[in-house]
Amino acid sequence: MTTPTSDVLIIGGGVAGLTLALEIADHLSVTLVRPAQDDHGASRWAQGGIAAVLSPDDDLETHINDTLIAGDGLCETEAVRFTVTHGPAAIQWLIDKGVPFTPETDPAARYPYHLTREGGHNARRIIHADDATGRAVVDTLLNNVAQHPNITQRNDLTIVGLLQDNQGACRGAYGCDAHLQWRSLTARYTVLATGGAVAFTAIPPLPRQAAAKA
Ligand SMILES: Cc1cc2nc3c(=O)[nH]c(=O)nc-3n(C[C@H](O)[C@H](O)[C@H](O)COP(=O)(O)OP(=O)(O)OC[C@H]3O[C@@H](n4cnc5c(N)ncnc54)[C@H](O)[C@@H]3O)c2cc1C
Repeated sequence: MTTPTSDVLIIGGGVAGLTLALEIADHLSVTLVRPAQDDHGASRWAQGGIAAVLSPDDDLETHINDTLIAGDGLCETEAVRFTVTHGPAAIQWLIDKGVPFTPETDPAARYPYHLTREGGHNARRIIHADDATGRAVVDTLLNNVAQHPNITQRNDLTIVGLLQDNQGACRGAYGCDAHLQWRSLTARYTVLATGGAVAFTAIPPLPRQAAAKA
């Protein structure tokens, strides 16, 4: 394999892709592919807020139980337990990154940010940034990504396929830019953070058109 463009190629710049990029970029070089005007991803449109056990009046087992009931048998219990247990630390990580969550104004409250209660939850545990939580999270994480020297953003590409070497391992991805020119991005590791649905084709080995220089 020729020298990869980066250690890790992340396809998708919603909250999942942005978070992963920031988590690994101190140790690995990252290329992050996301459209410049990203109105198609879900993250920017999330409004209500994020559920986590934050108030001292709430507890993890109640949140797990509420989630399993709302899931009506569709949830993997261990996945729910993992997510709920890591929720408070994940919210603190977002706060540390600068997400402007709405502060609590009630001096009697026992948590500094305002928590709402939504359907299925037996406690107030939804932290939010007014009614545009997703936009606040994405904008804040994007600012952090822009300032990180080890993250290269490619806002000009739509990825259409994965690159595969002769052993069948994924070695990056290829796509086309606004001028319909094919570009390839090679990497040691490739992460699909493209949201709910993806329809890529893996093409062995590097296709001739994708061999155009990145
Ligand atoms: C209207 C709405 C309201 C919501 N409200 C809430 C809420 O209140 N609370 C809550 O917790 N959750 C909410 N959700 C769910 C939440 O927004 C999603 O679970 C979350 O944003 C998923 O993040 P993601 O990074 O996985 O995906 P996305 O945010 O969808 O990101 C996917 C990224 O991949 C990119 N991409 C996809 N295909 C390609 C390609 N071929 N080439 C290059 N880039 C590509 C997209 O452009 C985008 O940048 C809501 C969702 C919607 C739609």
